[in-house]
Amino acid sequence: RLLVADPQERHEPQSLLTDQECQHLIHGLAGPRVELSELTFVDLFEERVRDNPEAVAVEHRQTRWTYRELDERANRIAHALLSAGVGAEDVVAVVMDRSPDWIAAAIGVFKAGGVYLPVSPDFPAERVAAQLDRSACAFALTEPGSEELVRKAAGTRDLTALSVPGVLTEDGPRHAPRVPIPPDQAAYIYFTSGSTGTPKGALCEHAGFVNHLYMKIDDTGMAPGPGEVVTQIASQCFDISLWQFAAPLVTGGSVRVFDTATQLDVPAFLDELVAGRVTVAQVVPSYLEVLLTRLEQHPRPLGDLRVVSVTGEALKYELVQRWFAACPGIKLINAYGATETSDDAMHEVMDRVPERDFVSVGRSLRNVNTYVLDENLALVPLGSPGEIAFSGVCVGRGYINDEERTRQAFVPDPFRPDTRMYRTGDFGRWLPEGRIEFLGRRDEQVKIRGFRIEIGDIESKLLAMAGVREAAVVVDGTGEQRSLVAFFSAADEEELPAERVREFLATVLPEYMVPTHIHRMERLPLTENGKIDKKSLVRRAAMPG
Ligand code: ADP
Repeated sequence: RLLVADPQERHEPQSLLTDQECQHLIHGLAGPRVELSELTFVDLFEERVRDNPEAVAVEHRQTRWTYRELDERANRIAHALLSAGVGAEDVVAVVMDRSPDWIAAAIGVFKAGGVYLPVSPDFPAERVAAQLDRSACAFALTEPGSEELVRKAAGTRDLTALSVPGVLTEDGPRHAPRVPIPPDQAAYIYFTSGSTGTPKGALCEHAGFVNHLYMKIDDTGMAPGPGEVVTQIASQCFDISLWQFAAPLVTGGSVRVFDTATQLDVPAFLDELVAGRVTVAQVVPSYLEVLLTRLEQHPRPLGDLRVVSVTGEALKYELVQRWFAACPGIKLINAYGATETSDDAMHEVMDRVPERDFVSVGRSLRNVNTYVLDENLALVPLGSPGEIAFSGVCVGRGYINDEERTRQAFVPDPFRPDTRMYRTGDFGRWLPEGRIEFLGRRDEQVKIRGFRIEIGDIESKLLAMAGVREAAVVVDGTGEQRSLVAFFSAADEEELPAERVREFLATVLPEYMVPTHIHRMERLPLTENGKIDKKSLVRRAAMPG
């Protein structure tokens, strides 16, 4: 009658659930089982190249490449990597801006059997160095704008850097290198902010990558063959950027790369969306809000757009209401998951405003097992809050070269032997019909404009600065207006204006993690038990001036 997750480790039975209830929670609420194919993204892309080599694969500004052109470039990059010595599961940093060349570079890494590690050319050298070190990265693909950064970040490390424009001007082999890639081979690493100040590199495998592509294709209803156009809009350091180019390239559609400058200019973004005949787009909730505000003020049809996937943070009901009022007929998907689970693990697909007055994160996707657990990893009854955990092929291998943090978040699935489970740190509860209501975070991980940030990451950088005595970071505002506010105190004699602290943070943190406001205080307020009183700092952050 009782379900005890792991008799060796658990102390007390946590839940009084009947067998039937347990079976329902374990099997009934899991995603549909679909036979996993042995094919990787590379196989599927090369099939599309053979099917229709002259179809458009990538568009960006005035550039338009066919499948044949993209494939030949990716092949040349793959051959160059192989000649440089890249072997199975060697990590290759791709330090490039988003562009067709960047997509060719990523595919080139996959074709060579390497592990794709995207790095933003805008990141501070110190952060890039930390990522290269942690992932024991010995190869990089660069472009003129990133060569200096890679040189600085590499320091004395033995790193072979190849210039992508250089490789593409040499007349290297254009045929596919045909390196065998088993489905359980590592495919990519995305670094996410870590609470101790060291980024965590989530490592995922090809099987999880492809499984995710299939579910994204199903739920966005992408038809095979040319015609579907997907926006590539996310930062290359955010794992959602991957399906944005990979999904259309396995269905035979095309990917349209939107410049960051275009995204900031909303009318220009909407013009390009329509002119580019985009059918599928993905945005974070804060950008959906920006789009909606524009559309409400200047209504316009959105051309071929059929579906918008929204992801990364909680989607407010009010936004969904506004969406269907402004854009009836265009589906909305609330996509929920984590980098550690090869991106989305649950979807709520909506073609109208949901009846209840909140937006759920939906149902388990294909081959995904979803659990809601207590702190002993025992199942909680349907409807009770608990931590959301996922298991199955979607779960990545862990954090690269970081056993301790891997052990904390990636644990054996107590209900399915030999299956990896990822503890999300998110709270949620099952709704009766098998959807999950998202209830917030267990820790201090926050999302600002879709970027995943650990508050502790910023605080530890502040505390590392000479002269800083105490430091705390809080979030001010809600929705699109949300921003980070830092408070610090300095040793009494220290001349340390907030501006100097800002300059320092900009040299060690990506731009999106540098707090909007930084205030120096005499001493930080403390709670009765001597901890920094964040609640009072939140109130202070909200005060004008
Ligand atoms: P992904 O890259 O899959 O979008 P990240 O790794 O950046 O996700 O962040 C994962 C975390 O973001 C989740 O654990 C959760 O806290 C939050 N999150 C992602 N999608 C949603 C969503 N649709 N609703 C609420 N929170 C979300």
